[in-house]
Amino acid sequence: MHELVTLQANLPEAARSPLVDSDGNGPRVYMRTYGCQMNVSDSQTIESMLADSGYRFCDSPEDADVVLVNTCMIRESAEVRALGQLANLSSLKKGNPGRVIGIMGCVAQAKRKEILDSHPYVDIVVGPDSYRRLPLLLEERFISPPGTPGLLETTLMREELYDDIVPRHHGGVTAFVTIIRGCDKFCSFCVVPRTRGRERSRPLPSILREIEHLVSQGVRDIMLLGQNVDSYRWQGRDFADCLLAVAELPGVVRVRYMTSHPTDISDKLLQVMGSHEKICPYLHLPVQSGNNRILSEMNRPYTRERYLDIISRARRYVPGLALSTDIIVGFPTESEHEFEDTVRLMEEVRYDTAFTFKYSERPLTKAAKLTDDIPEAVKVARLERLIDLQQRIAREQNEKQVGKLTEILIEGPAPKDDMMWSGRTPDFRPVVVPRNGECIGDLIKVRLDALVGFTFVASRQH
Ligand code: SF4
Repeated sequence: MHELVTLQANLPEAARSPLVDSDGNGPRVYMRTYGCQMNVSDSQTIESMLADSGYRFCDSPEDADVVLVNTCMIRESAEVRALGQLANLSSLKKGNPGRVIGIMGCVAQAKRKEILDSHPYVDIVVGPDSYRRLPLLLEERFISPPGTPGLLETTLMREELYDDIVPRHHGGVTAFVTIIRGCDKFCSFCVVPRTRGRERSRPLPSILREIEHLVSQGVRDIMLLGQNVDSYRWQGRDFADCLLAVAELPGVVRVRYMTSHPTDISDKLLQVMGSHEKICPYLHLPVQSGNNRILSEMNRPYTRERYLDIISRARRYVPGLALSTDIIVGFPTESEHEFEDTVRLMEEVRYDTAFTFKYSERPLTKAAKLTDDIPEAVKVARLERLIDLQQRIAREQNEKQVGKLTEILIEGPAPKDDMMWSGRTPDFRPVVVPRNGECIGDLIKVRLDALVGFTFVASRQH
């Protein structure tokens, strides 16, 4: 066993904020998180730091002394949602002028000045590499006289990994574990390298320590996270080594990961996936477009042919592999004929899941210099076409599973029926099964008897 990292309960008293009263009660924090799993993981890291400093958490912004919003700007819609939330925060501030409002995440990083200039009720703006400073900034803000300009901390730090902090786990059998931060790929449509900085990998021993700690809290299913996990490198170890080391930890029942990049995914990784039963046969491999000219415009340095070759090798190494992807339609200059290449690729690969998006211009990106020349109605029509196609393919893929014997990991009671458990197959298909003395976290054998919508109804097998 590796030495466990310091747990919150054992924190030295010196780490407590001076805002904590003599009964040990610190200010109450309400946190809302937008965006991807990386943001969810970051929010758990922030919660851990604040809990260490004596802060408490609440479920309603009205009850909170501190309201924090962790924002995402990968798509325009996510940014609009986050900025819309800012407008609501103004009334919270009016209701209690002493309440501290903090904006974090990618929008905070990219639009820091604009946020402070146009939202004067915002007290703190913190970027993804500066969360360590948050407890100090909050202390400073609580004692600042009214009218003091908001505090800004958005330095990008190449060495920041939050490696010594155990993210606050919220219960359940699944946990996200960040293994690499930042991105060096600079896809022309993506703002992430500008908001989350350059790529850096966590030391493997600290990843394993965190997972051991999670296992001791009842976690069974580990999702390894990174903008591009395939470029993980630490002291000569690559992502395949990392994945295998995690799968071999006692108590870990399943390991999954996201996101992969077609340029970096290796045969070694696919071999490891296919050779270890704890590593789920599920691969999220964003293609973004099925047309080579558009891929080149997107700065995605692979071709449609190379991508399809990776898919066929992945299916060879990993029997029963489920596939998901990300696709953008309506990238600047995308012709109808080029869009049809994406449709054909989707038909050829037959993804189990696809996350499809209309192109939206993101500030600070290379693509933002291009004219966003595809009319909205065309983007919508292309998106609807892909969604319809994918729904048909997903239904057909699922129908092929009916009658199969498989294993599910029990995650909790089924949302609509307390007499059933809800769980997932190794390839991540949702299943409900009648309860029969099992516990959350058990791995049980089932037969997939029927499909209702996109959920399987199963029966227990012994
Ligand atoms: S690989 Fe491309 S899309 Fe993914 S985070 Fe990096 S720049 Fe963005």
